[in-house]
Amino acid sequence: MKVYISADIEGITAIAHWDEATIGRPGYELLREQMTREVIAACQGSLAAGATHITVKDAHDSGRNLIPDRLPELVELIRGWSGHPYCMVQELDRSYDALILIGYHSPAGSGANPLAHTYTTEVNQIRLNGQRISEFHLVSFTAAYEGVPVVFLSGDAELCAEAKTYDPAIQTVNTHKGRGRSVIARHPQQIVAAIRQGVEGSLRRLAEYQPRRLPDHFRLEVDYKEPARAYRQSFYPGCRLVSDSTVCLEVSDWFEVLRALEFIVLS
Ligand SMILES: [Zn+2]
Repeated sequence: MKVYISADIEGITAIAHWDEATIGRPGYELLREQMTREVIAACQGSLAAGATHITVKDAHDSGRNLIPDRLPELVELIRGWSGHPYCMVQELDRSYDALILIGYHSPAGSGANPLAHTYTTEVNQIRLNGQRISEFHLVSFTAAYEGVPVVFLSGDAELCAEAKTYDPAIQTVNTHKGRGRSVIARHPQQIVAAIRQGVEGSLRRLAEYQPRRLPDHFRLEVDYKEPARAYRQSFYPGCRLVSDSTVCLEVSDWFEVLRALEFIVLS
């Protein structure tokens, strides 16, 4: 069984400030340790369920957060960023049996996580077919594109609820609940144990998961904080300005959404 684990930091247990997500800032080392522990728990759960190959993508900021020698020896670790539009699930393909998401977070525009954002902190919102979307939705659609089921997610409480709305079969562990600039968190050790158990359980029930079907048409809208940025990005092929701060792109192939995001949001 081949398992892919994508890990971010803004949904790791108890994270409450951008300093804790930023290399060199106070509190970062503690959160990086906890992120590593939560990923190890997901690896252990995968191994207990029979995984024979595990790819881990360090998918936060510089992609250099996880402590490599703590991970099980079987793990293949992807650090840094290639520039491939699959981004947080780089190298995912249909040879994988399951996608697991650790430390994911609520999207730009949400009040449910003090660190809520989507890909960047420079957008107010990213919408797909009229719905506000998160990084969870982006990687889940990519997984669907490759025919791989998302089986498990850990992250803030609201994102866990959103994941259940997207697919009730996804097993979730919520790490904390945001309120204003605060978070209300469970004990880190409890979360680590719940992730290990939850991942193992979800992989043992792998036969119950079905890859999701993608819509036939995508209307992508990116609402930037700075209107000048929207004006510039509106020159990406196929994009048009629909308000001072919003660009829109309509395509039928999911990869074209990802390709656009790589250039109009991440670059
Ligand atoms: Zn992140």
